[in-house]
Amino acid sequence: MTTHRVDVEVLTVTDCRHRGLTLARLRAALDRAGLADVVLTERVIDDPAEAIAAGMHGSPTILVDGHDPFAESGTEPSVSCRLFRTPNGYDGAPSVEELVAALTDLGHAPCDCREPVPLGVSEAAARRLGVEGFVALWRGERVMVTDLCDEPMVIDAQVRSGRLEVDDAGVLVGVHGLTARPTRHRIECGDAAVHTWCALDAIGIPAALAIDATALTSCPRCGIELEVVLRGGKPVDTPAAWRLWLPEGRCDHLVEDFCNNANLYCSNDHLTATATKASGRALTVPDVIAIGRATWADAADALADRRDTHSMSTTLIGTDPPAAHGSPG
Ligand SMILES: [Zn+2]
Ligand SMILES: [Zn+2]
Repeated sequence: MTTHRVDVEVLTVTDCRHRGLTLARLRAALDRAGLADVVLTERVIDDPAEAIAAGMHGSPTILVDGHDPFAESGTEPSVSCRLFRTPNGYDGAPSVEELVAALTDLGHAPCDCREPVPLGVSEAAARRLGVEGFVALWRGERVMVTDLCDEPMVIDAQVRSGRLEVDDAGVLVGVHGLTARPTRHRIECGDAAVHTWCALDAIGIPAALAIDATALTSCPRCGIELEVVLRGGKPVDTPAAWRLWLPEGRCDHLVEDFCNNANLYCSNDHLTATATKASGRALTVPDVIAIGRATWADAADALADRRDTHSMSTTLIGTDPPAAHGSPG
């Protein structure tokens, strides 16, 4: 379905201790992502000036199409030894799941503000706005967007690119996948609920937060309601036939171009009957979980920093009761 060629390059210093681990996990991830024919290239860089030119953020650095998907914002280029924060703690290389997510997340950046921000706009401020806004929406708080970000250009750019929803009074409505506006997709957690922009958000967010929750969405073809039950962020008894359409390619407006097409289907037949006019590809629910963990790792960190992850099921998220969707039956 896609003809996109992925370029994967591993940058290391001479005798990097984690080179073998990184290459082994990358090969496993390429296999799993259906990219087994991709050639891995390697470059040894010991010179700091060369590291800057190459975009090397420590050894090892993995470049996917020339971009370091694991670079944390504010990290300087360097040739020092690098550790990765993985779901299993600090490690010498990202986990295979995280690598799959990075390799399958090319060019569309689902709901994560990872798209290049317009010139002159601070990427750090855009990310902060996304994360702080997410926390506020998750808690069901009404906040002024100007309280989360004091750079009008950033707010403006995020609204125009479909990454931020604000009402006429300047109150935050949606960001980073969550929205106070009713949609076909929602996350239920205890007796609270919050809507999301798309099915990927509804499944990916509780996966990243590693919580007990239910993602509810519906098959656009037949309208049947689809429930993905998660325990500790892992899917429980999800039918193997369900497929999520991951749109790819041009994304001028995140909600319109990406989220509106990122639907979960009850079967591959219903997916191919509806989704495949645009470019993109079909993912299984476990694929969606991997992408979700990588996409909302920042939000999970922010909630964990506030020690909120555990109390969430009783006290947080959503002020509205779950809205009824579609026609009954
Ligand atoms: Zn269906
Ligand atoms: Zn989305």
